[in-house]
Amino acid sequence: MSLKIKNYKQDNLSLKKLNTYMVVAAILISLILFFAMTRTATMYDEVHTVTQEIKNYETTAYNLQHASDYLTEQIRLFVITGDKKNLDSYFEESNITKRRDEALEFLKIHHGESPAFTELQAAMNGSLVLMVMEYHAARLAVDANGYDLTEYPKEIQSVRLSDYEAALSPQQKGEIAKKMLFNDEYKRQKDFIANHTMNCLMQLEKEIWEEQSKVSSNLKKTMLIEHLLTVLLIAILLGIVYLTSRLVIFPLRDYVNLISEDEKLPVTGAEELRFLAETYNAMRETNRLHREQLTYEATHDKLTKLYNRRGFEMLLDDLDLNNSAVILVDLDKFKSINDIYGHDTGDKVLVKVSRVLLDYFGDSGHICRLGGDEFVILMENTTPAIQDQMKKTIDSINQWLRAAHDGLPPLTISVGVTFCSNNTDVLALLKRADEALYDAKEHGRSSVRFDSPNAKK
Ligand code: GH3
Ligand code: MG
Repeated sequence: MSLKIKNYKQDNLSLKKLNTYMVVAAILISLILFFAMTRTATMYDEVHTVTQEIKNYETTAYNLQHASDYLTEQIRLFVITGDKKNLDSYFEESNITKRRDEALEFLKIHHGESPAFTELQAAMNGSLVLMVMEYHAARLAVDANGYDLTEYPKEIQSVRLSDYEAALSPQQKGEIAKKMLFNDEYKRQKDFIANHTMNCLMQLEKEIWEEQSKVSSNLKKTMLIEHLLTVLLIAILLGIVYLTSRLVIFPLRDYVNLISEDEKLPVTGAEELRFLAETYNAMRETNRLHREQLTYEATHDKLTKLYNRRGFEMLLDDLDLNNSAVILVDLDKFKSINDIYGHDTGDKVLVKVSRVLLDYFGDSGHICRLGGDEFVILMENTTPAIQDQMKKTIDSINQWLRAAHDGLPPLTISVGVTFCSNNTDVLALLKRADEALYDAKEHGRSSVRFDSPNAKK
């Protein structure tokens, strides 16, 4: 009897495959997380950059306005007070610090194509126009204060006064200079600069707002993607948990329970577990067949295949001997068959007798070979009423055995029978049957004897 185990196949989902899927899922999860984090960092940088740009552009536009106002302030102070320091500050701003030029340059680089740049350029032009008026006023103020013109910047020196102006008194020159910096034309020009600076700012705000809308829309999309990725991650994790439970944990739990109850295992789960279940089931079946074989061999006679003494004892444990008959059978002069025909023929005769007993009593009783040429038949649910029938049966058997069959020598059997109604003492029953058998042997053999008072002798 060999163990039949199916070849290990990987048609179904195996732990190896599951492991591969989990590794792939883990890599996927890591990549998704890395992607999401990088996206978020990029979006954050973009938001930060846009915020920074807003500040820079606003500062730029205001720088030009402030520089222009600063120039106005310094030139007015010079014209009013005649303090040379104010004029130095003026030229330091216009020629060295150059906030207006830098602001314009900055905007040209970053927003050169934008209308905001055109607006700031207009404001700058307005400021330059204003400077011509301011140089003129400064030139008049220098004269009004009686300063040496050669000590002043070339921009002042190069201003040509009209004949009318040149002919004015220092006081008059001072008055005209002041009027030039506070008259309507000067204010209009200042408004021109302020308006264009404001337009520039508004344009910048509009463009930045558009940029911000774009960035925030991207941010929204990124957040939506991140939400979807999170849902995907959760789905992958739940999938892993489901697969691990379905393919490994639940089958293992069931296997442990069923093995402890010595039950067959269902072939479920991952391929490796299915293989284990099939192997276990095959081993369990082989063990069962082995046990059955051993039990059969231990309880049956090898020659006749009838129950042996051990089988007889086993039967006694299971049978209800109330209302039963114990029929003891012994071959007559069997020794001489052995002596004349040989042991092998003797064996064949024993087999032949066992077949005859099976034919006659197989349906109604359990037939055992107790040893040698002695057989016993245990018949349940019977009474002494069958004695006549029994005698006829034994006579028929003997009649048949006396005629030679299959080249085997003729023979007869002697039979001792005992009935019991409520006695389960087997040894006592056997003893009584043996006494009846002895009686049959004593009275010429080839007959049946009953131990009951009504027995037909
Ligand atoms: P009786 O009529 O008084 O019973 O005479 P008998 O010769 O049959 O005597 P007994 O029953 O005592 O003899 C049984 C013989 O059965 C003894 C032994 O040689 C023989 N025998 C026992 N077991 C086997 C066996 O397995 N095969 C064979 N061929 N002979 C056996
Ligand atoms: Mg005998």
